[in-house]
Amino acid sequence: MFHKILIANRGEIALRVLRAAKELGIQTVAVHSTADADAMHVRLADESVCIGPPASRDSYLNIHQILAACEITGADAVHPGYGFLSENAKFSEILDAHNLTFIGPRAEHIRVMGDKIEAKRTAKRLGIPVVPGSEGAVTDDVEAKRIAAEIGYPVLVKASAGGGGRGMKVAKTEADLSDALANARNEAGAAFGDDAVYIEKYLAKPRHIEVQIMGDGKGNAIHLGERDCSLQRRHQKVWEEANSPALNVEQRMKIGEICSRAVADLGYSGAGTIEFLYEDGEFYFIEMNTRLQVEHPVTEAITGIDLVHEQIRVASGGGLSVTQDEVRFQGHAIECRINAEDARTFVPSPGVITHFHTPGGLGVRVDSGVYSGYKIPPYYDSLIGKLIVHGRNRVECMMRLRRALDEFVVDGINSTLPLFRDLVGNVDVANGDYDIHWLENYLANKD
Ligand code: ADP
Repeated sequence: MFHKILIANRGEIALRVLRAAKELGIQTVAVHSTADADAMHVRLADESVCIGPPASRDSYLNIHQILAACEITGADAVHPGYGFLSENAKFSEILDAHNLTFIGPRAEHIRVMGDKIEAKRTAKRLGIPVVPGSEGAVTDDVEAKRIAAEIGYPVLVKASAGGGGRGMKVAKTEADLSDALANARNEAGAAFGDDAVYIEKYLAKPRHIEVQIMGDGKGNAIHLGERDCSLQRRHQKVWEEANSPALNVEQRMKIGEICSRAVADLGYSGAGTIEFLYEDGEFYFIEMNTRLQVEHPVTEAITGIDLVHEQIRVASGGGLSVTQDEVRFQGHAIECRINAEDARTFVPSPGVITHFHTPGGLGVRVDSGVYSGYKIPPYYDSLIGKLIVHGRNRVECMMRLRRALDEFVVDGINSTLPLFRDLVGNVDVANGDYDIHWLENYLANKD
């Protein structure tokens, strides 16, 4: 087992990783920018190192500084959290070259899944269902028209290097296709320095359903069921739940087994998420994230398995603590991502939180790095906390969520708490009757 883990992240996820390390009796090192000197993960860590000024590229993305912090403190492993360096294959290789362990998958797997065309090709080879579309990049318009006619309009032009919904254009008919291709290429070239694009069928009303997997790097893997993350705003997840209200047990086990077999064949190590669009009973792979995800606690709630413990175990060569047969899915869990934003306009609201009170009681978990008097710096994402509620079934979970939201107090800044109070009382949400466009439509038609 590791002696000391350096946590290369900030905010709630840094605290989340720190808690897991402490439980395993491992020393912790926090790194932080000058803007985060007062952060909770810095206070609670055994040691801390300031790694630079506020801008992420000079601190949380600064590989040299993080290496130096490992050297100074004698850390033997690095947990990257999510975002920042978590899907940076080069970072994992550099750590390797310095005899430090990257708590995550091997560099080659990060690299393959970071390129959407390669990821899709690999998924298909491993028996995962994918969205019908071009085999690889499309380079000329004639070929594109032939492929689009074959799969049927509307089609979506997507950037191979895409992320955050950028470099994506819909073509409703053949007349739109040339423009969609040119626009997607331009956007992708400007944003990612890579203008490779591909074509796939545009699904009209899918749900976003993703499968959590864990591999031991030695050819064994398990799945921990799915999460439904269809409630999104601008392709950002807002509300996540496990299990998906749309799946039954057979569907769950079937897609779960496809995913666990695929990552076992790949020799994948650590936590990963295989994301699908789901429409009319069919799953369509869109991408794989080779890291811990923001919404992982809903999976922890229904399985009782600590995903960060498992990540640390696997990275240290200890293997998984459970077999597939031992995984039990119990009850229902929902997570609300509470942001420091206006609940109506979504304008960020940095500043001092004058009063912060979190709900408690059975089945209620709050993962947050903030506290009363904490000043939210303007430099990073706007997540202030995640409320995760568990119940024996979805109805109980929703009742508990409503109660927990009522108890939650965030004063001094704007937060998205009012949005969740609205959603928990909405009939479609209560029925689990929504797709990836539902929240945008709801927000557009509110008032
Ligand atoms: P990114 O990495 O940019 O987030 P993804 O491939 O994960 O890109 O897709 C982001 C979102 O775009 C999905 O959650 C979904 O809302 C939408 N999307 C992606 N592919 C399709 C498709 N083939 N049909 C319809 N919507 C899609």
